[in-house]
Amino acid sequence: MSTEMHPTRWGDPAAVAPLPETTRGLVELAFGIHESPAVEEVTLPPVGLPGAVLDELRSLLGDDHVHTDDATRRLRTRGKSTPDLLRARAGDLADAPDAVVRPATHDEVAAVLDVAVRHHVAVVPFGGGTSVTGGLVARREGYAGVLSLDLVRMKGIRDVDPVSMTAVLEPGLRGPEAEALLAGHGMTLGHYPQSFEYASIGGFAATRSSGQSSAGYGRFDSLVVGLTVATPAGTLELGSAPATAAGPDLRQLLLGSEGAFGVITAVRVRVRALPAEKVYDAWHFASFDQGATAMRTLAQSGLMPTVLRLSDETETALNLASHSDVGGESTGGCAMIVGHEGASVAVKRAAVAAVLTELGGTDLGEERGRAWAAGRFHAPYLRDAMLDVGVLVETLETATFWSNVDRVYAAVRDALTGALGEKALVLCHISHVYETGCSLYFTVAAPEADDPLAQWLAAKAAASDAMTGAGATITHHHAVGTDHRPWLSREIGEVGVGILRAVKAELDPTGVLNPGVLVP
Ligand SMILES: Cc1cc2nc3c(=O)[nH]c(=O)nc-3n(C[C@H](O)[C@H](O)[C@H](O)COP(=O)(O)OP(=O)(O)OC[C@H]3O[C@@H](n4cnc5c(N)ncnc54)[C@H](O)[C@@H]3O)c2cc1C
Repeated sequence: MSTEMHPTRWGDPAAVAPLPETTRGLVELAFGIHESPAVEEVTLPPVGLPGAVLDELRSLLGDDHVHTDDATRRLRTRGKSTPDLLRARAGDLADAPDAVVRPATHDEVAAVLDVAVRHHVAVVPFGGGTSVTGGLVARREGYAGVLSLDLVRMKGIRDVDPVSMTAVLEPGLRGPEAEALLAGHGMTLGHYPQSFEYASIGGFAATRSSGQSSAGYGRFDSLVVGLTVATPAGTLELGSAPATAAGPDLRQLLLGSEGAFGVITAVRVRVRALPAEKVYDAWHFASFDQGATAMRTLAQSGLMPTVLRLSDETETALNLASHSDVGGESTGGCAMIVGHEGASVAVKRAAVAAVLTELGGTDLGEERGRAWAAGRFHAPYLRDAMLDVGVLVETLETATFWSNVDRVYAAVRDALTGALGEKALVLCHISHVYETGCSLYFTVAAPEADDPLAQWLAAKAAASDAMTGAGATITHHHAVGTDHRPWLSREIGEVGVGILRAVKAELDPTGVLNPGVLVP
């Protein structure tokens, strides 16, 4: 797999493929096909950074690690949300950084920050570049230029502690690289977001990522034991014990800080033994309500599988029809994926199966579960193929308490169909489950209007108003970036915004770190 993603698409350039024939037929029937014109090569804005700043960075890092060529800058422009892709496809690369710098150590990161502060240059930490909330788009007005601080050279593992079951990972490790290094010690992190192939350890921490196996292994923030962070105010070393009563937990202030408070240069993580067994089963429930009740019962009885997700009726029907997920003929109802990983899974698997059967579930067996596991990283490639034929596709997510799920589900669906029209397909699944509630993950497909970017931004605003209006969070795992900032202010209120601003002022007094991201 290529280490660099396609500049205007998701993932490995070698994996670019047209829409599969079965799906193309369905799309044509539902929306009509409008092939998008091929994107022409575009020129980037000229490098605006003064030569003296570039010289200083070169003497610090070496000529080979300071890049101002268009090809490198293009690959570090924005993230991979549908608006990011639409802008890039339209030839708009106005947010390109002036230069890409690649420090190799914590001290080099700190030295780059020092240069940035002295010359008032905006700094955008770059991990895997998979942000879907505008987290890599810094405000440039008022700055001498924008630097992409690319962590790609920081890919080490150290301090592996098989007694405490912890290890220190460097921030530039992508998901597969971290897993491969840990596997060498018989360990796993177990963090598998859909962006696993490209997203990085530092990015997971900076966005409070959550993965497909987080029911079993925990969200990324719960896997973090310690952090090392370079800030303009100095270095923070956090997490010297498994638990502490030494005041508020400052790690929680840095987790989810999206490069606005500092650059994460090392993450001490809690790890598990590599599982000897992995089993994924598919289950069928008559309705979304019935399946959700079964999930809640599992979560509240402490019987959590490693993977637990439930598609609503529309998502189930579409997945079955396209054979891209659980595969097979649709008989209505909802599909649930239930995965177990561990040294020996039989006892828990049987206990979970008993609860699910009791609550109306039908076991569809391992074959469909295996099909889900095999295709779990495939959907983002499909999004590109859909954009190619004029279909707007994007996802959004939220979380709420169990007693509020119906209200949020209906409000977001209504808002999306209201904004995009009756032809729009709105799919949903419960992606993460807790004792007190769950997250709802929506996928939207609609025929593109003349201005698809404006079309999506209006729909996204309507959905965001609906979710926060119904009492849910603006994001369960995609983070805030620039896109969710207005709704973050509503969610945490004036006092909360004041706290974020005070922390920013303390750690980054001249405001060079990711200006415009996270902090309202
Ligand atoms: C197709 C697709 C599927 C996705 N699926 C999931 C999913 O299942 N679960 C999920 O949680 N998210 C998902 N995401 C969102 C995204 O992958 C996550 O937000 C991811 O955690 C970001 O990691 P990254 O390394 O790509 O960070 P980047 O995109 O490079 O950066 C994200 C933000 O963190 C900052 N940052 C990055 N590294 C550091 C660092 N070392 N120190 C300080 N700040 C830093 C950046 O400046 C930016 O603001 C998905 C995205 C896509 C495109």
